[in-house]
Amino acid sequence: MTTSRQYGADAPLLLTPGPLTTAAPVRSAMLRDWGSREADFIALTTRLREKLLAVAGQPTGYAAIPLQGSGTFAVEAMIATFVPGGGKVLVLVNGSYGRRMVDMARRLGRTVSVLEVGEDTPVDPARVDDALARDKAITDVAAVHVETTSGLLNPIDGIAAAVAGRGRRLLIDAMSAFGALACYPDRMNASAIAASSNKCLEGVPGVGIVIAAEDALRTSAGHCPSLSLDLCDQWRGFEQNGQWRFTPPVQVVAALDTALDLLADEGGPPARLARYSETARIIRSGLEGLGLRPFLAPDHQAPIIITFHPLEDRSFSLIDFHDRLLDAGFAIYPGKITTTPTFRVGCIGQVFPTDARRFVRAVETILRAGKRKG
Ligand SMILES: *Cc1c(COP(=O)(O)O)cnc(C)c1O
Repeated sequence: MTTSRQYGADAPLLLTPGPLTTAAPVRSAMLRDWGSREADFIALTTRLREKLLAVAGQPTGYAAIPLQGSGTFAVEAMIATFVPGGGKVLVLVNGSYGRRMVDMARRLGRTVSVLEVGEDTPVDPARVDDALARDKAITDVAAVHVETTSGLLNPIDGIAAAVAGRGRRLLIDAMSAFGALACYPDRMNASAIAASSNKCLEGVPGVGIVIAAEDALRTSAGHCPSLSLDLCDQWRGFEQNGQWRFTPPVQVVAALDTALDLLADEGGPPARLARYSETARIIRSGLEGLGLRPFLAPDHQAPIIITFHPLEDRSFSLIDFHDRLLDAGFAIYPGKITTTPTFRVGCIGQVFPTDARRFVRAVETILRAGKRKG
């Protein structure tokens, strides 16, 4: 595959969970100004919403609602819009993003129940079923598809079946899944899924996305205690005149439109998943071969981001390792796991198997050289 990316002199390859290394046409799409109330930008927004629905598997009865802000804004809007004031949300937690939804729901004044398991453990659908059977007050379940904290893949279809079986609403943080992993809200009977411009869609940051069931939107009118996060109002705005309620990040929207074309050109989410999977395989097995132990069991690993334990060698410094990789042109992430020091290597964005091999060689060189003195 040819790559169309170009780096500035100092831009490293971002092996992070977003912002990501983007394709040159995505960045070039930002080089013009748009009047947000003009016909051409309205057409761009309409087209964008259609393309987002296509990525979601063209579900009937669903609407794509872009929202200004990062992914967190979309997740918070989803919870604020769908969980009613008198409702109770069961949040499934095995990492930071699950915990963040607990925090959001509490701040919004919603009653919260938490089902928490370890950061290396997928949520068991049987436990979700059990929790719903025991607590009839639960109206909504909030789940994370890929817990980017570790890179863990939750069994979202099983969780969805458990929630549907008990007749509750399902809200999914699909941030680091949407655009690569199969993420079809209708098949999961999800009322809404949240995503963003800058993860597997490979746009630039600045737009959150919620794909929501229109019937759920209609029954949720008036739930949201926030004006700017109200997805019902945001949806009505688009439906009424095709416009964003408040100033849209026009260049980001244009970049996302181009990014969605590149996703389609690549072959859609299945082809992107195949690329990420190959990249992830090379990184995981390559670093494992160098003595770096992955945090997750292979069965629980999504091909999105991989968490590693540092070398047990006392002379190994994570900060030094990070800095030396940056000198070699690769940005990795310090750990987010709460219980143990780790580092993370992202597989998403304009990263190709050849890059993954170069990265493994760079790690090998650094480990061989040992800790930099001074
Ligand atoms: C990245 C991410 C978010 C938050 O996105 P921001 O753009 O940083 O606000 C939420 N949930 C998951 C699972 C993520 O990976």
